[in-house]
Amino acid sequence: MTRSFADRHIGPDSDDLARILGVIGVESLEAIAEKALPASILDGSGLDVLPPAISEHEVLAELAALAATNTVATSMIGLGYYDTLTPPVLVRGILENPAWYTAYTPYQPEISQGRLEALLNFQTMVSDLTGMEVANSSMLDEATAAAEAMTLLRRANKSKSPRFLVDKDIFPQTLAVIATRAEPLGIEVVSADLGAGLPDGEFFGVLAQVPGASGRVVDWTDLIASAHERGALVAIGADLLALTLVTPPGEIGADACFGTTQRFGVPMGFGGPHAGYLAVRNKHARQLPGRLVGVSVDADGDLAYRLALQTREQHIRREKATSNICTAQVLLAILAAMYASYHGADGLKAIARQVHRRAEEIAAALGSAVVHESFFDTVLVAVPGRAEGIVADARSRGINLHLVDADHVGISCDEATTDAHVDAVLAAFGAARQEPTFESIENRTSDYLTHPAFTRHRTETSMLRYLRALSDKDIALDRSMIPLGSCTMKLNATAEMEAITWPEFSRMHPFAPADQVAGLRSMIQDLETWLAAITGYDAVSLQPNAGSQGEYAGLLAIRRYHLSRGDDHRDICLIPSSAHGTNAASAVMVGLRVEVVKCRPNGDVDLDDLRAKIADHAERLAAIMITYPSTHGVYEHEVSELCAAVHDAGGQVYVDGANLNALVGLARPGKFGGDVSHLNLHKTFCIPHGGGGPGVGPVAVRSHLTEFLPGHPLAPELGDEGTVSAAPYGSASILPITWSYIRMMGADGLRRATLTAIASANYIARRLDEHFPVLYTGENGMVAHECILDLREITKRTGVTVDDVAKRLADYGFHAPTMSFPVAGTLMVEPTESENLDEVDEFCEAMIAIRAEIDKVGAGDWPVDDNPLRGAPHTAGCLVAEWNHPYSRETAVFPRGKSRPKVWPAVRRIDGAHGDRNLVCSCPPISAFSGM
Ligand SMILES: *Cc1c(COP(=O)(O)O)cnc(C)c1O
Repeated sequence: MTRSFADRHIGPDSDDLARILGVIGVESLEAIAEKALPASILDGSGLDVLPPAISEHEVLAELAALAATNTVATSMIGLGYYDTLTPPVLVRGILENPAWYTAYTPYQPEISQGRLEALLNFQTMVSDLTGMEVANSSMLDEATAAAEAMTLLRRANKSKSPRFLVDKDIFPQTLAVIATRAEPLGIEVVSADLGAGLPDGEFFGVLAQVPGASGRVVDWTDLIASAHERGALVAIGADLLALTLVTPPGEIGADACFGTTQRFGVPMGFGGPHAGYLAVRNKHARQLPGRLVGVSVDADGDLAYRLALQTREQHIRREKATSNICTAQVLLAILAAMYASYHGADGLKAIARQVHRRAEEIAAALGSAVVHESFFDTVLVAVPGRAEGIVADARSRGINLHLVDADHVGISCDEATTDAHVDAVLAAFGAARQEPTFESIENRTSDYLTHPAFTRHRTETSMLRYLRALSDKDIALDRSMIPLGSCTMKLNATAEMEAITWPEFSRMHPFAPADQVAGLRSMIQDLETWLAAITGYDAVSLQPNAGSQGEYAGLLAIRRYHLSRGDDHRDICLIPSSAHGTNAASAVMVGLRVEVVKCRPNGDVDLDDLRAKIADHAERLAAIMITYPSTHGVYEHEVSELCAAVHDAGGQVYVDGANLNALVGLARPGKFGGDVSHLNLHKTFCIPHGGGGPGVGPVAVRSHLTEFLPGHPLAPELGDEGTVSAAPYGSASILPITWSYIRMMGADGLRRATLTAIASANYIARRLDEHFPVLYTGENGMVAHECILDLREITKRTGVTVDDVAKRLADYGFHAPTMSFPVAGTLMVEPTESENLDEVDEFCEAMIAIRAEIDKVGAGDWPVDDNPLRGAPHTAGCLVAEWNHPYSRETAVFPRGKSRPKVWPAVRRIDGAHGDRNLVCSCPPISAFSGM
């Protein structure tokens, strides 16, 4: 019998399963559901709307048919999205390479040096091009980067003014996201033509763009100076390609600079995913949201990279976090950085000049109809009453232009624009070519991208090897199981991934005419229907591009619902102490006050404390945010009572759907008490983590909240309020992954996956409990799809920490489980359904062997500060270095013998604190590597 896709996706076969069930003492897979979940919420219905499962080859044929209903036109719409020519070596070497796309966020830096170096290149690229001192390693898109710039300026400025001034020539989606963010925070957004100077009044911040949405290139030097005189800080949105030619914002005094890196080789993809960027002056580095890669040293004193200032992470700072960003856009940031590396400064400048030259050719031919004298790539043309006709004519020639209004057309050139495109555009206007005679816009005098990272890899051979050398330093899912609790690191099947680089998905502009994107629309419609059915909600929005953004959109819907009913006093959000840090950070972003609800000793939410908190706040209760199953990895039996108590008090229930891998096909949050949930398609639904992004965080709501789902100014079908992302459908080009997964699994496959994930987690819990006690279980001794191993007692007795165990696992070839979340001093393990039993057993045996090592420390055989755990991870260098440790080199590097493929960590244990004290967040000079 041929194996179905579900048989390939799900690791354990029937023999494995029999063994697993034997160990956990349950007679069948089906019996697991009844044993683990409360009977009151079991609900396998709803999935009958899913079409029956099909094979990998059938799904590719269906996708091809869908793709064929999209029309790939030449896009000259602009507005922040430009066609780009991704070098094929980067398509295959990064976008289509599991060594890159299946990696996790680099929280274990010793086995993530490859992607950390690539991200450092990204930061260097951004800070060089913008002339700023520090850049973070990616924002979710340009519009959210602008909103984060706004809140950063507010934190950084002592001004009491609540007013934020924006130029009227910024992208409409940027303005929309800024407006959404500003309202709950009490920020008043004032829009004005800043080309005419600063209006009167006090402002804490000013934001403008170069080039503007209309293509106009303004020198903002005077604006920045007068804003500073008035006590305001300034953020400039800037196109990185334009900055190869014009003086960058950092050199004219801007405090922050933001934008997108999309046109650096990242396909438009109907709106995403792309890496946004945010760069600031050194003095604001500690205010930067998102992730920042920095340079530090390892235990041998060698240079090593790691995420800097991790103490700002939401898990620690929670409601005081600088932002709610968790999953970012790592894979796309790496792609953009490598694009810059491959072209180098001169290559990028040549591309920019060619783009500008074509825009000049168009402008020269259109003569006095051209609105702005100074432009880079985008020409705004005044054609009174004729705009629609011209845009239609161009469309008949296969070209999409930007219909600004009845009298204006925008034309954006990019790297893919050819002479033939210019001719076709001119024909649509009925214009003839003229020799351009514009003054040069080039006034940049400073160097950029001089670091070897941007000069060394200019041939394909060199780039190929650079990519390989970097990815060889990292543990991704293509090497071994990544047992990260809460992160659901499951298979990202090749058939699911194939379509994302097809031009019918990847080369679509997010604002392309509706009749050109029928296939994408139908895929989006399918997904909305399927995800609603799976979760039991009534409506779904795919706009949020990470789980955190789904939380934000969901809480915003709750806020808008309360306001619509005149309940403007409801401002309290209850959050259990075990919640993910993003929950608290998101609540603050929508203007809610966080009240923490206690957990009982068994890990459940303390219902007595909950009732007391509800009574305390009565009228002011806006919402509760719970995670189900809980972040403690158990199905709380009183979830229905909890939801009812909140509803009775007039509050709304937010169910964080990050743990949906434990629910699909078994229970539906929209039916057991949730009003709104976000899902993480990059967890439950197979979008790879990409080394820390991209993600998709759809928000699902019950019918009373439908009207408050995110809208978009350029997608009339969605309404135009509550925009949370730059693109109407967020990271649309990776939706084929989830679509294919659901299509190939079908209802039965999905349900079997959930049950297998639970079975596997319980197997691990049973096998490891005697070595590392499992902290929480449900009423019948079962965990959900993950389990928490408690090391606190062991640490107290032996001095060996969770850190030591995590690093030692790298010597055994494994990525560590989730460390110290949700409980400090513990490890949270999630195997997922995709790991076969051999791998799960290898992991368990590694953990058991580590426990034996810990016991030797406990028994005094090895000193607490010199043993294989504290010394971990061990590099190949340890084999040839001087060795005066009480354990052998063989124990150090081959703890499980030589049979398992060896992963050699690139560096020893990294000193994070050293790096935070000496913050270096762009490529160190090459001299720093001498002697390495
Ligand atoms: C992963 C996770 C989030 C955040 O999702 P991102 O996609 O990383 O933004 C929120 N809550 C929980 C419980 C999670 O595990």
